[in-house]
Amino acid sequence: MLGVRGSTPAPGPEFVRYGGHTSCVAVYHDGEDQPSLVLDAGTGLRDLTKVLGGAPYRGSIVVSHLHWDHVQGLPFFVAGDRPDAEVAFYVPAQNARTGRDLLAAAMAPPNFPITPEGLQGAWSFHALEAGYHQIAGFRVRATEVRHKGGRTFGYRISDESGSIAYLPDHITSAGVSNEVKDLVHDVDVLLHDAQFVEKERALSDAYGHSTVDDAIALAQECGARRLVCFHHGPARTDDALDAIAELHADDASVCFAKQGDIVVVGRGQV
Ligand SMILES: [Zn+2]
Ligand SMILES: [Zn+2]
Repeated sequence: MLGVRGSTPAPGPEFVRYGGHTSCVAVYHDGEDQPSLVLDAGTGLRDLTKVLGGAPYRGSIVVSHLHWDHVQGLPFFVAGDRPDAEVAFYVPAQNARTGRDLLAAAMAPPNFPITPEGLQGAWSFHALEAGYHQIAGFRVRATEVRHKGGRTFGYRISDESGSIAYLPDHITSAGVSNEVKDLVHDVDVLLHDAQFVEKERALSDAYGHSTVDDAIALAQECGARRLVCFHHGPARTDDALDAIAELHADDASVCFAKQGDIVVVGRGQV
């Protein structure tokens, strides 16, 4: 996991153990030494360049939605911004716009110096519809989830080694659709929005997010084998996250994402 924060990066000494980068998860096939799929392009994507050890990135990037905390790492991804890079970029389809135009709404002057064409290498941009896809050798199921402001997908990624569900931004208190329950059903590992805690319920609902308890309830209802609480609030210090984790220490199926964590799924890893 290259970035586990929500909303905005969290620099400073109180955030070093859980990490300050925004959402980004690199997914490996079992036995591969390089990831071929990246979920979200938050600032954590910058660290993938180090992971690749001098190699260009040749793979796919699938974003859950276009909020800043999920795309701001994209133009700073050095391993993907070089002539020998090959990247297929996927964003939820909306407003009948192309994948390129959807990204350009977030990345183009005057908001940013370059447009998507300014990225070096062979980039392709795709507007992804809900449903089943084959991406980077994984089976990828895309399902619309409730959030706020723009279309947001949750994903289930699977191969012969195992399955993960990735729902970094998702409000469950307004009801969870049967499609989302099916997306999460019996998954090996669920990475889920847990930005808030119960005493912050009003904020959580207003911003379109979930609480830790919401995430645990969804995981239990849907039979997810393990839950990784993800997309931590940017003001939630390491000590505060430790205190929340301590409340759930007796449940081995629940953990709180830390930047740099490697999660082994079946025989594969994230
Ligand atoms: Zn977010
Ligand atoms: Zn969001």
